Amino acid sequence: MQIGTQTVVTVTYALHSSKPEQERNFVEETPEENPLIFLFGSGQLIPSFEENLNGLRAGDTFTFSIEAENGYGEVEDEAFVKVADDMFKTDGILDLEILRVGNMVPLLDREGNQLMARIAGIEEETVLLDFNHPLAGHDLHFSGTVVSVREATPEELDHGHAHTPGMHDH
Ligand code: ZN
Repeated sequence: MQIGTQTVVTVTYALHSSKPEQERNFVEETPEENPLIFLFGSGQLIPSFEENLNGLRAGDTFTFSIEAENGYGEVEDEAFVKVADDMFKTDGILDLEILRVGNMVPLLDREGNQLMARIAGIEEETVLLDFNHPLAGHDLHFSGTVVSVREATPEELDHGHAHTPGMHDH
């Protein structure tokens, strides 16, 4: 059976990322004991990722790259926000464990949703936060193996996601 709409796909892969003219960095790997299982075409993954797997069969291997604009997007200037450093103070004292360039910090937006921001710069009394996805501006390089392809069940199609053994029944 080939990967296509209404199939449930299991793959293992390694992901590396790179910026123009820089070396590739290892990002993540899905091992055999914890593969990626997904309902093809359900919109949970990067569309280009699915397009590259379309038509493959169990046992096939794949290697492809996705340019930043088709992955997590380009780095947006508007996603950099300067804030007062008060938010990093506890009892009026700066928390220097947290306040370091490169650290990821959890913040709440106006609706109370948690967002992750990277500390991009520290100046006197202000902190520059970067809300871009950590992989924005990076080309993505996937390589892996199709472990299995099967027809989705009516229930999975109804729920819009793959069901895996031991998954919570709902
Ligand atoms: Zn479900």
